[in-house]
Formats: sequence, C-alpha cells, structure tokens
Amino acid sequence: MEKKCRIALLGECMIELRGQMFGVMHQNFGGDTLNTAVYLARLGADAGIEVAYATQLGTDAYSDAMVAAWQQEGIDTGLVKREAGRMPGLYTIQVDETGERTFYYWRDSSAAKGYFEGPSCLLEDALDNLDALYFSGISLAVLPVSGRERLFKLIDKFRAKGGQVFFDNNYRPRLWANGHADARLWYDRAFASCDMCMITLDDNQLLYDIPDEEAAVRHAFSLPPREVVIKRGAAPTMVRVAGQDEIVTVPAFKVAKVVDTTGAGDSFAGGYLAARMQGMNPEVSARSGNKIASIVIQHPGAIIPKEAMPVFFFV
Ligand code: ADP
Repeated sequence: MEKKCRIALLGECMIELRGQMFGVMHQNFGGDTLNTAVYLARLGADAGIEVAYATQLGTDAYSDAMVAAWQQEGIDTGLVKREAGRMPGLYTIQVDETGERTFYYWRDSSAAKGYFEGPSCLLEDALDNLDALYFSGISLAVLPVSGRERLFKLIDKFRAKGGQVFFDNNYRPRLWANGHADARLWYDRAFASCDMCMITLDDNQLLYDIPDEEAAVRHAFSLPPREVVIKRGAAPTMVRVAGQDEIVTVPAFKVAKVVDTTGAGDSFAGGYLAARMQGMNPEVSARSGNKIASIVIQHPGAIIPKEAMPVFFFV
C-alpha cells in the first residue's frame, strides 16, 4: 500500500496476574482492544498500516513498562494519556486442576476510565491525522456516561469528515451496572455509529435476549453498519456487506488441539482489519482473521510470541 493508513484503537489494558491464589502468579498485561492493536501492528506494518493505542495510564512503573512494551510492538503511544495518581486496572486468572479459568477484576478506579476527563483529549485532537478508529463494547463499558458521550460526539465528527469507525461487540455484563437494558441503548448507538462491526453471537444473544443462534444471525445482519462480520468459533465466519446479495461464508481452520481460546476474537479482528485496510475483499480478510486466530488458540495467553506469527499471511 503506497498511502499510509492510520488507525487508533481505544480501550483499556490491565495488569494480568495468572496462576494460583496466594501462590505463584505470572505477571502480564492484557485487554481486548490492546490485543487487537498488537496483531494489527504485527500484520499490517509492512503494508503501511500505522497503529496507535488510545487509553489512559498512570505515571507509575507498571504503566511505564506497558508503554515500553507496546512501543516494542510498533504501536504508536502518542495517544496514551498519563495521569499521576491513577493506576492501571488489574485482573487475576486462576486456573484449576481441570483447566477451568476464573477471572477477578479490580478496575472500578482504573486509569482508563478517565481518558475523556478534562477540556481537551489526545484522541479528539488527533482526528485529522487518522483514517480509522476501533473500539469495543468493553471500551464503552469502562467509560463513565460523560466519557461515552464525548466518544460518540468525536465519532460523529470523525465520520463526517470521512473517517471509518469499527466496533467489536465484546459484551461483559458485569461491567454494565445498570443491566442489559441500559447496555442495549449504548450498543444500539455504537452499531448506528460504525461502518463495520464484528459480532460474537453469544455476546449479542445475551445482550439482546435472543433465543437461538439462527435468530442471532438474523439480528446481526439487520444491524445498521455497512459491513457486519460474525465470528462463530469453530463454525464458518459470515460477512454481510450492504448492497451485495450474497453473504460471504468462510470456514475456520481445523485445529487439532485448542490450548487456550483467550484472544481468539481479538486476533481475528487484527487479522481481518490488516487485510481489509489494505484493500482485500471480505472473503480474504475473514480467512486472514481465521488464520491468525487458529494460531493464537494453539498457544497459551492472548498474545503469542512474535516467532509464532505466520510468515505468509494472506491465505
Ligand atoms: P470470541 O473470542 O470473540 O468469543 P470466537 O470464539 O468466535 O470469538 O472466535 C474467534 C475466531 O477464532 C473464530 O472466528 C475462529 O476464526 C477462531 N476460532 C475460535 N475457536 C476455534 C476453533 N475451535 N477452531 C478453529 N478456529 C477457532
């Protein structure tokens, strides 16, 4: 791609502790949009896709280390706001003898919540230098109402001048203190405010109280975005583009042994966008998303080592 393409991903990345309660815990960091940013940066850099991550962190050593790690991944951290006295959120993953995982979160006062506090905001100021913006249901959930309103205002402004907006429906009910009905109002706004959305069917079924998968597919394809991508685990991915009669269906790759599905959807999004943003059609883009996700689920954790990345990406 000759022209550089700049995308910002907005969200929250937290400190991760994985292991045994009061035992040995391995430290890492993670978050859905950050995971997508990492895969998009890895897969899109050669094609001129520039990836920035927008969030708020503290000025503590953990925040410093996260910023340094993201920069190592080729992610532009110029949109990361740093606020003294705030700390990143934290979560633990405990894995029992059967491999079952339990998550606990400490994120009520995490720094990311305050990204839109104050008269000006790095992301708002950067809109003229961006081609695309990506956010998720989790990005939305962690913001206070005033932050969400600022985000939607920013999106309106951005789209009016030709910016593309992508939304992933990741739904975590416990982040929505006022329940499904309140969350639905915000999701309806998000779907009405984006050009492309990625849907995990289970999440939409829960949020919109949809009885079965078939109805969930129908609902997803009735949503307003021009392009709707449905991720379905091991079942084929489906894409509907407005104005095209055919629904594109792309099988997932066969995986003999799934090790850990953490980051499957996030990496799919990175792969899909890396292809789509350099002009590939939905079919090639979905296959690329399926490909990277099939590799990610054969490794523990959301972010695989760089050495495990595919050499030839478009499949
Ligand atoms: P999420 O992680 O958002 O819940 P999915 O479970 O639908 O999303 O998985 C995202 C993508 O990961 C799928 O579209 C597919 O490409 C890949 N994937 C997930 N599970 C499997 C599997 N068992 N075999 C092959 N691919 C899978």
